[in-house]
Amino acid sequence: MINLKDFTYDELKIFLENMGEKAFRAGQIFKWLHSGVTSFDEMTDISKELRAKLAQNTYIGNLKPLKKLVSKDGTVKILWELSDGESVESVVMEYKHGNCVCVSTQVGCLMGCKFCASTIGGKIRNLTAGEILDEVIFSEKITGKKISNIVLMGIGEPLDNYENVIKFLKNIGDKRGINIGYRHISLSTCGVVPNIYRLADEKMPITLSVSLHAGTNETRDKIMPVNKAYDINELIKACRN
Ligand code: SF4
Repeated sequence: MINLKDFTYDELKIFLENMGEKAFRAGQIFKWLHSGVTSFDEMTDISKELRAKLAQNTYIGNLKPLKKLVSKDGTVKILWELSDGESVESVVMEYKHGNCVCVSTQVGCLMGCKFCASTIGGKIRNLTAGEILDEVIFSEKITGKKISNIVLMGIGEPLDNYENVIKFLKNIGDKRGINIGYRHISLSTCGVVPNIYRLADEKMPITLSVSLHAGTNETRDKIMPVNKAYDINELIKACRN
């Protein structure tokens, strides 16, 4: 089964055209998906026939909240269950400039930073673009707080899940959907240098954050294995680029 939220607008349009549908349906369905509907029946401007056809081989991604913790300063941490039973966390934070959600991009993490609990069991799998999108959609729903900022700084290394993260960024910034401006999005990396260069080539004006944790190669080598592959000098050069 295909999760419709894993499609970009263009992919959705092609998918629908291949089903014999008019191109304008893509805009309607894309909007519904990003509004957080959980069933085809909620898509009231789509014919019953098309809804039934979609339900035959596609589904609308959804996240189930397993736990919600609220702190005194209004920060909310949510543990989500994914469709295969795995789980990830999102955190919603209130700032003067608006509400921000910190999203996870992988189940577990391969990077092995010595101070981080997310990497203890290694990487289990990448999140799909639709699952990352759902962290934004359902964090807003469950907290009732309008999300205006996103940081990709939760569980996982975003640049180790490059294709899905780029697709998520394309979708979240799409004017036909949720439409959060790239200036309001930060991506945090431990220093996956080749993909910093790739990201620069995408020409998306997001903010790049680097989790440095130490200012010398000697210390960084000890606590962040990624530094042995790409040291601080290479990392700074990539950031400047
Ligand atoms: S890259 Fe991030 S999530 Fe992965 S081990 Fe390092 S600090 Fe943890």
